[in-house]
Amino acid sequence: MSSLRFSYFIKIGILFLAYFITAKIGLSFDAVSGFATLVWPPSGIALAAILLFGYRLWPGIFLGAFLVNLITGAPFFAAIGMGTGNTLEPLLGAYLMRRFTGFKDTFLDLRQVLGFIFLAGFLSSLISATFGTSSLYFNGAIDISVYLKTWIAWWLGDVLGVLIFVPLIIYWSRWRNVYFSIRETAEALLMLFLLFIFCLIIFGEILGEPFIDPLLIFLLFLPLIWSALRFGFRMTIFCILSLSVISIIATMSGRGPFVRVSLAESLVFLQIFMAVISSTSLIITGIIDNLKQVKEELTKFNQELEIKVKKRANALIKSKEEQLRHEIQLEEKERDFVSMASHQLLTPIALIRGYLSMLLSGKYGNVDSIASGYLSESLKGAQRMAKLVKDLLTTSSIESGHIKIEKQVFDLTVVLLEVLKDFRSKAEQKHLKFIVNVRKESSSVLADIHYTREVLANIIDNAIKYTKKGGISFTVKKSANGFISISIEDTGIGINRNDIPHVFDRFYMSKNWLTRQSDSNGLGLYISRLLVEKMGGTITVESQVDKGSEFIINLPQV
Ligand code: ADP
Repeated sequence: MSSLRFSYFIKIGILFLAYFITAKIGLSFDAVSGFATLVWPPSGIALAAILLFGYRLWPGIFLGAFLVNLITGAPFFAAIGMGTGNTLEPLLGAYLMRRFTGFKDTFLDLRQVLGFIFLAGFLSSLISATFGTSSLYFNGAIDISVYLKTWIAWWLGDVLGVLIFVPLIIYWSRWRNVYFSIRETAEALLMLFLLFIFCLIIFGEILGEPFIDPLLIFLLFLPLIWSALRFGFRMTIFCILSLSVISIIATMSGRGPFVRVSLAESLVFLQIFMAVISSTSLIITGIIDNLKQVKEELTKFNQELEIKVKKRANALIKSKEEQLRHEIQLEEKERDFVSMASHQLLTPIALIRGYLSMLLSGKYGNVDSIASGYLSESLKGAQRMAKLVKDLLTTSSIESGHIKIEKQVFDLTVVLLEVLKDFRSKAEQKHLKFIVNVRKESSSVLADIHYTREVLANIIDNAIKYTKKGGISFTVKKSANGFISISIEDTGIGINRNDIPHVFDRFYMSKNWLTRQSDSNGLGLYISRLLVEKMGGTITVESQVDKGSEFIINLPQV
């Protein structure tokens, strides 16, 4: 607590000294009516101190303002009034800035810069000008005839003090954050050089008569706007301060475009110009600063968005992966179940088929024609069931990768002819012709002979099943890319165009119940495709409804 108190008094002491000394310097410039001076740095120092360290420092301001005016010759009560006005001004300025622009300890956006210029600069300074000039008048220190002149000089002096010294103290108190690259330093030096040259031309009158024209003062906007655009507040404030010092010294020594009959009058014109040029540069700096902030915020926002999107995408991929794993597990379970159930079914089905065949053979007594009809239907059903179970077992063993492909070299034409023998009688029953086109060239393939037979049997069985009249032709030949192809072409019912992409899918059956066969299960072509692919081959189909279908199997040639 005591150390807090101590530092508090130290701060008040420093503020008092800073106020007193700078006020004394300010008053040393030809003050209007002895008190209203051109630039009143104490008003800026006071506001900066309140903004940075709080309202509690007000006694430092009051003491400084009161004493300096008393010493300069103001009557006691006038000095009290002037001190009060000088103290109320920064307190009100700080309050307005905090209340209406949310200012904390540095300028964050354009609103705060504008608030500072108009609320703390132009508005609050009215108080001190009014208090000060009125105190002098009521205490008989000035005549009513000079009241307005004094008031204007006082007000403008305070405005300039605030506009120049508040940003200067606030920005330069954070000096450590400043970093200029070599390129920026070179550019800044060039800009300062330009400012210096313009000051020499305008206030130093170095180019002589032809260049002494009040309009030249507009040149000064160039380096200031350059600074505002490229270097921000700190540098701009530095330029404004340098410009004030140079212009004051020049005007006081009778040089430059602001020189009038009396020094006080000259300084008022200079004040007006400085107020305009400094508030313009500060506003431009504020706008640029704001744009930079918006850009920075956008970049930050973009980066954050990118991180978020990446995180989301990763989470999505993870959940997709988990879903896939889950699906694979489910499929594995399903396959295990199918395989287990099929194995369990094999024996009872074999028994049923055996007993039904025995009953039908008449070994266990005569079977009348009605019973024989039922029995043979039951036998057909049992055979269908046996085929389904066998197909299911084959499917699950291929899918689970348990199937063993044993590749060997054999002649595809020979195997085809062997398989055809098994189907001859079935084809004859339907009066279908087999046409085999055998070429002279070799038709040796490297594949699993057992599974090749199974695939051929499947396709040929289908061709017979789905063909009512005509025949089936077989062509074995060399095809491109090192394959031997075998084409099985029927003149059957054909396959609907929409169904063609699906005929090799699991459990795919024609939607048309009229064409569907009683022993269909939709696994034959699926198994055939899996087996051919496992052997390194391909299987395709081309078909037209009511014209026929052509299945082409490609197997690796030796
Ligand atoms: P299944 O013949 O047991 O129904 P497949 O997988 O062997 O099962 O055949 C699937 C479907 O493809 C059949 O239901 C049938 O609609 C169609 N199909 C197969 N071969 C032919 C063919 N040669 N002509 C017409 N349609 C066929």
